[in-house]
Amino acid sequence: MRSKITVVGAGNVGATCAQRLAERGYADVVVVDIIDGLPQGKALDILESGPVVGFDTYVVGATTYEPTANSDIVVITSGVARKPGMSRDDLILTNMKIVQAVTEQVVKHSPKCIIIMVANPLDAMTQLALHVSKFPRTRCFGQSGVLDTSRFRTFIAQELKVSVEDVQAWVLGGHGDTMIALTRMTTVGGIPISELLPKDTIDRMVKRTVNGGGEIVALLKTGSAFYAPSAAVLQMVDAIVLDKKRILPCAVRLDGEYGIKGIVAGVPCKLGKDGIEQVIELKLTPEESAALKKSAAAVKELNDIMKI
Ligand code: NAD
Repeated sequence: MRSKITVVGAGNVGATCAQRLAERGYADVVVVDIIDGLPQGKALDILESGPVVGFDTYVVGATTYEPTANSDIVVITSGVARKPGMSRDDLILTNMKIVQAVTEQVVKHSPKCIIIMVANPLDAMTQLALHVSKFPRTRCFGQSGVLDTSRFRTFIAQELKVSVEDVQAWVLGGHGDTMIALTRMTTVGGIPISELLPKDTIDRMVKRTVNGGGEIVALLKTGSAFYAPSAAVLQMVDAIVLDKKRILPCAVRLDGEYGIKGIVAGVPCKLGKDGIEQVIELKLTPEESAALKKSAAAVKELNDIMKI
């Protein structure tokens, strides 16, 4: 039987996720938004690309949650995006109301689903969805590290003029100023990056990665990135639907790992059909460990604002 995947939010990220999902052909897709006509119109448009692209999965749009019933995976992209000059944290008061209301509906209609949070501020919204859904952390987590890592990999490949396929990198921590690029675990064709590039070049690329979302916002002026974010979501969905057991950075609630308890942070996880099947605890240097704790403290501040 085909899987059923719901995407909440038919904006830039949500619609692009829906298109990529439909093109995978392994799941029927439901797109939900509050603006009547938007999810229906985009879903129909995607569906009508099927005969040309060659998929025959069903894509439907809705403003209610009945059509989403018993989804296997729900991707939550509903929420406002940043405008130039805004940080992701500036979105919290608007997006917390949206994510709370959406999560309640998702849980009611798909109590066994896996939730992948995308709305920002990502770590805090993941924490809110965990709080509202009462789902175990294995079934409620967020996408940020795959995107941040992809940005870092892009810059490294550009700098060295090599294929992105050969660049492996890890970006952990929060989806914002507190993200941590683990440069000592970043390799090109298995060669540590420190053997290929001078430190100041690596530092420049790390800085660009941390500001990667802001760079796109400044260029677009009216919204934030969505092609790379939706591709990142799809890598996580692929891992779950195809039970690939991929090791990917996910925003997950730490329950004592890394000396952090009850706070969401981006760390390496094994992703398969049951969601997060393992949280991998790396041996961090004292500096990396301090940076991860700083990142968790920043998320805790947002949790306090949300009173959760
Ligand atoms: P967008 O404005 O294009 O789309 C958001 C959509 O959500 C709109 O269509 C809106 O009508 C809908 N929406 C609002 N309230 C809703 C509700 N209660 N129920 C259903 N739908 C509702 O924004 P976007 O560019 O698609 O970004 C969406 C979110 O994803 C933002 O918060 C953005 O910051 C975040 N984002 C996260 C990442 C990441 O890596 N985690 C990357 C990019 C964007």
